[in-house]
Amino acid sequence: MAAFEHKDVLALVELAEADSLYDQHGEAVFELLRRDFMTRLQQWVRSEDKCASLERNRCSVVLKSIAGIGQLELAAAKLKRLFSKPYTEMGRSIPLTIVTGFAPVDESDKSQERAMRNASTALRAARVKARDYEVYQPGTESSLGASRETIRALELAVERGELELYYQPKVHAGFRNITGAEALIRWHREGEGIVTPDQFIPIAEKHGVIRHMTWWAIKSAIARLARWESRISLAVNVTPTLVLDDEIYWVIRDSLEIYEINPACFTLEVTEGVMVEKQNSMLEQLAKLRKLGIKIAIDDFGTGFSSLAYFRDLPADEIKIDKSFVMHMRESARDFAIVNAVIDLAHNFSLQVVAEGVEDEFCARQLADMRCDYLQGYLIDKPLPLEDFERRYLSQSEVAQRFNAERPSASRLH
Ligand code: C2E
Ligand code: CA
Ligand code: CA
Repeated sequence: MAAFEHKDVLALVELAEADSLYDQHGEAVFELLRRDFMTRLQQWVRSEDKCASLERNRCSVVLKSIAGIGQLELAAAKLKRLFSKPYTEMGRSIPLTIVTGFAPVDESDKSQERAMRNASTALRAARVKARDYEVYQPGTESSLGASRETIRALELAVERGELELYYQPKVHAGFRNITGAEALIRWHREGEGIVTPDQFIPIAEKHGVIRHMTWWAIKSAIARLARWESRISLAVNVTPTLVLDDEIYWVIRDSLEIYEINPACFTLEVTEGVMVEKQNSMLEQLAKLRKLGIKIAIDDFGTGFSSLAYFRDLPADEIKIDKSFVMHMRESARDFAIVNAVIDLAHNFSLQVVAEGVEDEFCARQLADMRCDYLQGYLIDKPLPLEDFERRYLSQSEVAQRFNAERPSASRLH
């Protein structure tokens, strides 16, 4: 690649999953991991190269006069080798994963600003493609979709405390008393007000930010349950790919343990699409999570793939009929029939049914007549900020103040 001949190359090296490492092992161990990360990087750089620590889990290195792409590949391979062994201390072994973005430095780019931007784009591309490294190519930005600013802002949203959970009540279809709530994420983006999930979840999914956000949502929801003495349940949405992520098991298990929460009060909502790919591993993973005692709900039911065999094998507790059917039940005989059939089918397989998108009284009555178990929708309430939700649905005495912020993981949640 001619563009590389005898040019300086900027490498942006990131210690992956820094927040998970911090949450899992605590501040002191994280600091040791960070030092180990820096020490190994020092073994990588040559005397002429310049290494600088940028953020707690990122370093930039200027590799002087790289002869060509071949030399860069060798450097990348050496870097990988340096991190092939886990960090070990007192019998504890923690793998360190790194991701790198490379970008050539133009002589005219004295402050290396452009190279830094390009290396950051390459780093993001590496994350999205789950590769160890990527070399910047013009056009990488457009292939990645959303603007760099938006993605960076999303990456920082958790740390800056810009994410918030709203709570939408779920009520019993017959008695209309509250039985649970769904936690729905909102982003308070600086200068833009509240951004709804439809605008940023797809970007977060595409650019590898969703993992961090989801772990935050799970921990925050479980911490919230600890403050509510009532026995209502709380549900969190999880993107299908994260269901297969081994970490999810530990995030949930550890949070339930720390906050001493009855697992039956916590529900994971996964879309029906979860079953389309890697069906067996999905079933296994859902079953494993369910063994923790938590509930699994199949979200947006009716919009994806389903068959009777699917119902038979499903390790789930609840089906949420997609709002597109529920909202049109009144004028569409077809949608009415689908809702009715899904309720019967689900009950035959001992699954409970939530109808979402319930907007009018007629619909709510029909659903109760069909023996639907729970209702969720604007008729009952919109997703509400915490204070409004607590004021409307939980009596003051139920919002326990017994929780204190001194517990280590709690302080990082809000
Ligand atoms: P969802 O899981 O299907 O959530 C229900 C969505 O329907 C919510 O939109 C809610 O505000 C809206 N909704 C509730 N009742 C009604 C109704 O009666 N009529 C109408 N028209 N809409 C109603 P929201 O909060 O904008 O969330 C949109 C989607 O974003 C969610 O759809 C979910 O897929 C995703 N999402 C939200 N929070 C998270 C999260 O923490 N993690 C992940 N992975 N996805 C999330
Ligand atoms: Ca949902
Ligand atoms: Ca849904």
